[in-house]
Amino acid sequence: MTATCVPAAPARIAAANCLLCGQPAAPGPHCPGCAGRIRHTAAAIAGLGTDPHRLTRALELIADGAIIPAPTPGTWTSISSTGTTTYLTTPSTCTCPAAASCYHTLAAIILTAAHAQAQPLPRT
Ligand SMILES: [Zn+2]
Ligand SMILES: [Zn+2]
Repeated sequence: MTATCVPAAPARIAAANCLLCGQPAAPGPHCPGCAGRIRHTAAAIAGLGTDPHRLTRALELIADGAIIPAPTPGTWTSISSTGTTTYLTTPSTCTCPAAASCYHTLAAIILTAAHAQAQPLPRT
């Protein structure tokens, strides 16, 4: 009831707060607004002729909460399917064995776009 400070959640546990904007998220890892932006971005990317299998894997990774924001903006931590290894992923690079041709980078592209829409930069 009073436990408001929890340690960093391990992979594949439903987040209490949206991984993108921090608003309450249930039952998945993202709030309804971010989930909608993710779907919208994925649909736009699908229209560009992206390999549908790669896109499906990327969306599964996102839905599992297995790609989370890293401390550096635009950088993401991807958790491997076994849950034992993490990769550093950006929209153009990834430290996993498949490197930039993997689906992690595609997930990072989708999340980076959705995140930018969730938190528009202030105009100066
Ligand atoms: Zn959100
Ligand atoms: Zn990768």
